[in-house]
Amino acid sequence: MSEDGKTHSHALPLVIGIDLGGTQIRVAILRGVQILSRAATLTGQNPTPDRVLERIYTILQQVLDTAGVTLAEIAGIGVAAPGPLDNRTGTIYSPPNLPAWKSVALRDILQEKYQKPVFVENDANAAALGEYMFGAGQGCRDMVYMTVSTGIGGGIIVDGKIMEGASGGAGELGHITIDWKGERCTCGNIGCLEALASGTAIARLANTAIANGQGAELLDFARTMLEHTSTIPDKGALPKFDFNTQPLDAEATQILANNDTTALSLSAHTVARAAEAGIPLARAIITQAAEALGVGLVNILHIFNPEVIILGGGVMQMGTMLMDPALRIMYERTMPANLAGKRPLPGESATGSGARIVQAQLGTNAGLIGAGALLYYYQHLEG
Ligand SMILES: [Zn+2]
Repeated sequence: MSEDGKTHSHALPLVIGIDLGGTQIRVAILRGVQILSRAATLTGQNPTPDRVLERIYTILQQVLDTAGVTLAEIAGIGVAAPGPLDNRTGTIYSPPNLPAWKSVALRDILQEKYQKPVFVENDANAAALGEYMFGAGQGCRDMVYMTVSTGIGGGIIVDGKIMEGASGGAGELGHITIDWKGERCTCGNIGCLEALASGTAIARLANTAIANGQGAELLDFARTMLEHTSTIPDKGALPKFDFNTQPLDAEATQILANNDTTALSLSAHTVARAAEAGIPLARAIITQAAEALGVGLVNILHIFNPEVIILGGGVMQMGTMLMDPALRIMYERTMPANLAGKRPLPGESATGSGARIVQAQLGTNAGLIGAGALLYYYQHLEG
């Protein structure tokens, strides 16, 4: 990195980034934030290591061919993968989306195959690194990245380094406790941020209210909206909120065919649109999720005192409807020193701009760009 703390793309070597997700595998040839070529394929049913590796090999060759680049020109390969994994050995341990990956030494497998340096990092940490080096975190040393979509993930950069923790488990921001007498989360803890503010949580709150007979107006809105959706030829114009949950078509089919209100399953997307349209129940649900998010931000500011908190993921597309209540809580409850942002260096003026809460810049490419960034990160650390 240069003295201004920014990473200049033109000086960087070519790398390969692999974003290994539960639904999609994406591979790109990268030079910093610049994507020379990119390809994606479905992870597929029954994603055993052998099947997934075959797919990776195929699209990796494809992106090399498309970019007109040979393997000899590539400095190394970075992989963003779902945890749990050990980034020091590059071994993946049965992530929920890849259950057949029981202790797979992905780094060694790829290193053997391509004879290049390979780094494997959990996807949220890789995305945090991508934002740190090439996105909204450029120029800062202490930042927290949080992605709010189906689940909530996090990555923490402290003094320019990814915070891994003793066993690689640091940064589980979705599972910090917000409501200590709340409901059990899938992780085993109680009242987690993810169980209160994720897209899944928003959908669950709405469906519970409907099942309890409180959601007539919301249900009417959903039926009307989804009827409309299923007759619009250009559905691409519709989804403003992408929570990676169920496709709107599937939701429409299910809701319109089903008269049993206890068996419905509205998506967070529909709840967000209903809130936008002013349906009180939907607004209340979004506000509640937003307040939980605000409490999460308070906790993050108190523990890490970052210069910036970067928020990504589909749920953030709700904009002010979500951020206004969240920021209100954050400003009301955070200790002033931790809101103040950067501590002035000797000779600098003390008027800090304050801890900034900003939108992620790399969008859906954060994982890919972050995977590639692993090469620059480790070369920088070791060099
Ligand atoms: Zn949890």
